[in-house]
Formats: sequence, C-alpha cells, structure tokens
Amino acid sequence: MSADCIFCKIVNGSIPSKKIYEDDDVIAFNDINPSAKVHFLIVPKAHIDSLASCEAQHQSLLGKMLLLAPKLAKEQSLAGFKTLINTGRDGGQEVFHIHLHVLGGGDKPPKA
Ligand code: 5GP
Ligand code: ZN
Repeated sequence: MSADCIFCKIVNGSIPSKKIYEDDDVIAFNDINPSAKVHFLIVPKAHIDSLASCEAQHQSLLGKMLLLAPKLAKEQSLAGFKTLINTGRDGGQEVFHIHLHVLGGGDKPPKA
C-alpha cells in the first residue's frame, strides 16, 4: 500500500469503484473516464509503480493479469478488445500503480 496512491485506495475500498472482478491478487473496475464503450482496468492489489518496475518475481502476476483480460472481456460481452499498459510519463501513464487497460464495445476498434 502506498499512502497517496489512488489505486491502492480503490483496492482497500477507501475510494469507491465499479468493481467487476476481485480475487486475492487483483481487482478489475470500470475506468472513471472511459475511452471506449467498455473500458476497465485490471490492477494488482500490491502496489507496483509501473511495468518498468516489474521483475522476475512479478512474472506470474503479470501473466494472471493478461489472462484475465479475455475472461472479463467475455463476461462484458466483448467480441474483441484492445489491451494497453502505459508506462512512465512519456508513455502516457498518469496513475503510478501498474494497470492493464481493456477497451472495446464500440462500432470501431478503440483508439489507444
Ligand atoms: P494511465 O494513463 O495511468 O494509463 O491510466 C489511468 C486511468 O485511470 C485513466 O484512464 C483514468 O481515467 C483512470 N482513473 C484515474 N482515477 C480514477 C479513479 O479514481 N477511479 C477510476 N475508476 N479510474 C480512475
Ligand atoms: Zn498503489
């Protein structure tokens, strides 16, 4: 837990979110400012700043996050979807707690 981190606060419930999935390691919730008809974020419960901070010990967690994307996309009735991990300010990352964006559901593929 990082005291000033928005996603840590969502994980511990002190900031509300529209949660679509939760287990011991990860949660998924709808993006507050969606860029597509369906736009949710898959977030590890443990605080990790970004993909650039990940190490070998995070391999299975990263794999779990990726494998959750098609499972949750299917539950959201998405026939296809886009996944995105912004890394670092130059990569467009605004929240420095690693997260996987999953977008889809419009007439055209989402821009990302
Ligand atoms: P990034 O640019 O870091 O990859 O994406 C951060 C995402 O988190 C943005 O799409 C933004 O809309 C979303 N976001 C920021 N604050 C909140 C929040 O308090 N609740 C939810 N549900 N999403 C948030
Ligand atoms: Zn955090």
